[in-house]
Amino acid sequence: MKSALVADIQRTSVHDGPGIRTTVFFKGCPLSCKWCHNPECISTEPEMMFYPEKCIHCGKCAQGCYSGARVLCGKKMTTGEVLDQIMLDFDYYKEEGGVTFSGGEPMLQADFLKEIIPMCKEKGVHTAIETSLIIYDEEILKNLDIIMADLKIWDSDIHKEYTGVPNEKIKENFIKTDKLGVPIIARTPYIPEVSQDFAKISEFLKGLKNVVRYEILPYHPLGVAKQRALGREEVIFTVPSKKQMEEVNKYAYIR
Ligand code: SF4
Ligand code: SF4
Repeated sequence: MKSALVADIQRTSVHDGPGIRTTVFFKGCPLSCKWCHNPECISTEPEMMFYPEKCIHCGKCAQGCYSGARVLCGKKMTTGEVLDQIMLDFDYYKEEGGVTFSGGEPMLQADFLKEIIPMCKEKGVHTAIETSLIIYDEEILKNLDIIMADLKIWDSDIHKEYTGVPNEKIKENFIKTDKLGVPIIARTPYIPEVSQDFAKISEFLKGLKNVVRYEILPYHPLGVAKQRALGREEVIFTVPSKKQMEEVNKYAYIR
């Protein structure tokens, strides 16, 4: 059985695709978005996270921390172990729900996904992915029920400044993925400080056949406490106001 480094498995999620879902967060991402709300999923290695506000100074770190102050992020799991977790909520998935592979960039764990997606299908579990599309793996993508993919910034230089990579490959991969015939939900996190050019992104996506929906999501500083816990530099952006969201949402659409 294949194995992968898993950061977390969240059950009964309602924010990672249709219906009630189990979300598997993998470690490792080729991007390093400054606003990432899962910064513990960027490194491909296990990492210790420390939340000083939870520390009760018991001095028993060597025996393991029971207060949740010191947490090791990253556990090697086999496809069978992850499938067992996914199946725990099978009765709640109904027609829409299922599993979402997220991260990090799930397609970095290609062999694992190529094994577990057919296992899920055999059990009748709906499968989705959350991806930056920096990687294109046809065997994975064509076998999914839904692809949720981000196009974060239109201009490649600005994309590189804020995510660490240019975006030409991502745009190319959107075009290639569109040809697979799998429904795509495209998304952009809205960061008011960044010039993202929603008009151009929306126009590009409208030219693709299988982008069934384009969502613009407000920045949320969820990742800041985790950046601190990882000992990384804290980067905080502005949460967009209701009025700012209304402004940009004119570029979002459902087909
Ligand atoms: S075991 Fe946890 S709570 Fe106790 S001192 Fe160590 S970090 Fe703090
Ligand atoms: S692509 Fe997603 S997981 Fe990777 S750094 Fe950006 S926000 Fe984080």
